Amino acid sequence: MRVLVAGGAGYIGSHTCKALAEAGHTPIVYDSFHTGHDWAVRWGPLEHGDINDGAGLSAAIRKHRPEAVINFAALAYVGESNTEPTKYYRSNVGGMITLLETMRAHDIGTMVFSSSCATYGVPAHLPIVESTRQDPINPYGRSKRMGEEILRDACAAHGLAAIALRYFNAAGADADGDLGEEHDPETHLIPLVLQAASGVRSHISIFGTDYETQDGTCVRDYVHVADLAAAHVAALSVCQKGQFGAYNLGTGQGASINQVIERAREITGRPIKAVAEGRRPGDPPVLVADASLARTALQWTPTQSGLDNVIETAWRWMSDYRERRIEAKAG
Ligand code: UDP
Repeated sequence: MRVLVAGGAGYIGSHTCKALAEAGHTPIVYDSFHTGHDWAVRWGPLEHGDINDGAGLSAAIRKHRPEAVINFAALAYVGESNTEPTKYYRSNVGGMITLLETMRAHDIGTMVFSSSCATYGVPAHLPIVESTRQDPINPYGRSKRMGEEILRDACAAHGLAAIALRYFNAAGADADGDLGEEHDPETHLIPLVLQAASGVRSHISIFGTDYETQDGTCVRDYVHVADLAAAHVAALSVCQKGQFGAYNLGTGQGASINQVIERAREITGRPIKAVAEGRRPGDPPVLVADASLARTALQWTPTQSGLDNVIETAWRWMSDYRERRIEAKAG
């Protein structure tokens, strides 16, 4: 299948392109390179363009004739979404509308959408199931919930087939070292802990040590990016005309910040200085998925998401592969 991957030069998008190619599909990347990287586009054609540029999208679709779309194109810094909400709604909600209208004009009836556990806010029950009330606590989470609502309505009105995948904490890197996480600025826990291990930063700050969790630090469900990628490939094959589905992608296992740092010390063999600081606004204490629905409906089984493998692959990327990949593309 030819698949237009909007935002395919980003972290999860690029790993998904590799998984699509390995499954025999052709990923066509459409990306603005606002946060994506040209070295991460390696498994199919590339079209440079913005998600809100309907004419650019149309031209890419006419040229490559995709049969389905995966939409990763979005802004994803939760903190920035609080200070620049309209920028987030323009990209994440406006972009979704432009993409859906362009798809409709070209008779493309299938979309898989990059959603988030941020749509749940502070969940009333744990582990989180898909029917848990979606009550996001920041503009980023609200923009993703709106994206889902637009898709649900488009399925009912136009016979679109759509699946939203609600990621928990994406982490890790491609096992072959082809791809990895590369954000600027980096805000996510695991790469920051590994930067502290490598000496790029002096320490890792722990945002809050007084939560009601086993050791006082926040608990998250870290899921390997390659397992997320596999779920998108599976989702494409189960999308059904006129139906909207949403699935949690997580492991069901939570790890606290202290546990992540301790495992990273073991795996890297480096000391990693940790400094306790105040809470970061808007952090729910615990986010852990019940991903039973994805296991049944998508036949999805995470195989690479153990915390040690997540940290090991991210560490190998950062310490062994990263510079070579970026230089190889530049050269
Ligand atoms: N965190 C931290 N120090 C950092 C970055 C993150 O203590 O330098 C914490 C953050 O407050 C949260 C957890 O690590 O409790 C995971 O944060 P991340 O930003 O990786 O993902 P999120 O859960 O916010 O999507």
